[in-house]
Amino acid sequence: MAELNQVIGALNHAADIIENNKQHLTELDGAIGDGDHGINMSRGFSFVKKTLDEGSFETAADLFKKSGMALVAHVGGASGPLFGTAFLRASMTLKDKTEITIEDYINLLKASIEGIKMRGKSDAGEKTMLDALIPAYEAGEQAVQQGKNTVEVLQAVKEGSEKGLKETEKLVAKKGRASYVGERSIGHQDPGAASVALILGAIADYFSE
Ligand code: ADP
Ligand code: MG
Ligand code: MG
Repeated sequence: MAELNQVIGALNHAADIIENNKQHLTELDGAIGDGDHGINMSRGFSFVKKTLDEGSFETAADLFKKSGMALVAHVGGASGPLFGTAFLRASMTLKDKTEITIEDYINLLKASIEGIKMRGKSDAGEKTMLDALIPAYEAGEQAVQQGKNTVEVLQAVKEGSEKGLKETEKLVAKKGRASYVGERSIGHQDPGAASVALILGAIADYFSE
C-alpha cells in the first residue's frame, strides 16, 4: 500500500484537511463542549507536520511514534493524549516495517481503538472519537475479508467513519466535557468523531488520487 514517503504524504494531507476544517471542528465543540477542538487539532497536527518535515525516519514505527509524541506534547485538550495514544499504539504494531500494507493499516486501526479505550476509559456508544473509529475499522476489516483491493478497503474505512460520525448525533455523551450537557448533546455530532472521519477520509483520498 505505502512506502514511508507515501505515509508521510498521507499524514501531511490529513494535517491539511484538519487545518481546513479548524473552524468547523471548533463549532461542533462549541455546541456540546468548550469550543476548542478545532484549535487543539490544528495545533497538534501542525506539530505533526513539523515532525514529518524535520525528521528522518528509519521505520514506519519511528514515524508514528514521533508523530504521536508531538500530539501528546502539544495538545492541551483531551483529544491530544487520545489521538497521541492512537498513534503510539499504531507505532507498536509496525515494528521495523518500512512499508505498510492494507492489512497493517487495519491492524493499526484496531490497536488505536484499544489504546483510546484504555487511555480514555471509554467504549463504543459514548459519543466519542471511538464511535467513528470503531465502525471505520469494522468496515475495513470486512472489506479485507471480502478480498477488496487497497483503494476499496480505504474507501470502506472512510465511509465507515462517516456513517459512525452521523450516528453520533443520536448518542448521549458519556465521556469528556460533552458529558456535562448530557441529553442536550443529542442532535449534535461529536467533534472528535468528526476529526477521525476527516483524517481517515484524507488518507483514503490520498491513496485514491
Ligand atoms: P477537551 O474536551 O479537553 O476540550 P477536545 O475538545 O480537543 O478536548 O476534544 C474533545 C473530543 O475528545 C470529544 O469530542 C471526544 O471525541 C473526545 N473524547 C473526550 N473524552 C474522551 C474519552 N474519555 N474517550 C474517548 N474520546 C474522548
Ligand atoms: Mg474541547
Ligand atoms: Mg478544552
